[in-house]
Amino acid sequence: MATRPLALFGGTFDPVHVGHLSVAWEASELLDADVHLMPAAVPPHRPPPTASPEQRIAMLRAALQGQSRLTLDGRELRRVGPSYTIDTLVELRAEQGERPLILLLGADAFAGLPSWHRWMEIFDLAHIGVLSRPGIDVTLPSALAQAIEKRRVSSAHELRRRPAGKVIELAVTPLEISATHIRELLAAGRDPRYLLPAGLFDDAQLLAPYRA
Ligand code: ATP
Repeated sequence: MATRPLALFGGTFDPVHVGHLSVAWEASELLDADVHLMPAAVPPHRPPPTASPEQRIAMLRAALQGQSRLTLDGRELRRVGPSYTIDTLVELRAEQGERPLILLLGADAFAGLPSWHRWMEIFDLAHIGVLSRPGIDVTLPSALAQAIEKRRVSSAHELRRRPAGKVIELAVTPLEISATHIRELLAAGRDPRYLLPAGLFDDAQLLAPYRA
């Protein structure tokens, strides 16, 4: 099997920032994969986002303009109720057949995997690509360390040979940018111009949910 993999990058994207786009772009290059950005509707383990689903989609659309390597997949926002990654992966597996699927997770999100709904089944449906993220304690819980012990691979080529089940660390350029910090800056009346994609400044409405 040597099919071009499909990588999925989920998150609240509240708002989408340069950290998200840069790591997703580099992951696409390192994996030679298409990347779908998937905003989550009602993240099961987090407080509700500041911006509405429609506003987050509008920001993603504005952010992704002018390139075709990263695309938006709004399926989780169209689903009623909580959006569990496992359900999305089951759906994608049915659509994509044997194509390798790679779930991209920042190192912080990866360390939290054992709190996810049916997390062990994720390995049956997708590979996981762990994106380096600075400024975060990434000690892995022992259940996770044990689960990935025999799954680790160091070459992206390994991910093309099977549809799911491996874990790769992707050394992307470390960018210490978070949506939390950007929301704080906007609420304080600051202008985080170069932490956000330029398209978000084209329409004053896009960042309005965060301004005081
Ligand atoms: P918040 O500050 O609101 O928690 P966030 O900046 O962590 O938001 P999310 O939308 O929660 O952004 O993140 C979606 C995914 O992107 C997660 O897997 C997260 O680890 C990853 N991610 C976000 N920012 C970065 C970054 N700067 N470097 C690497 N990964 C990142």
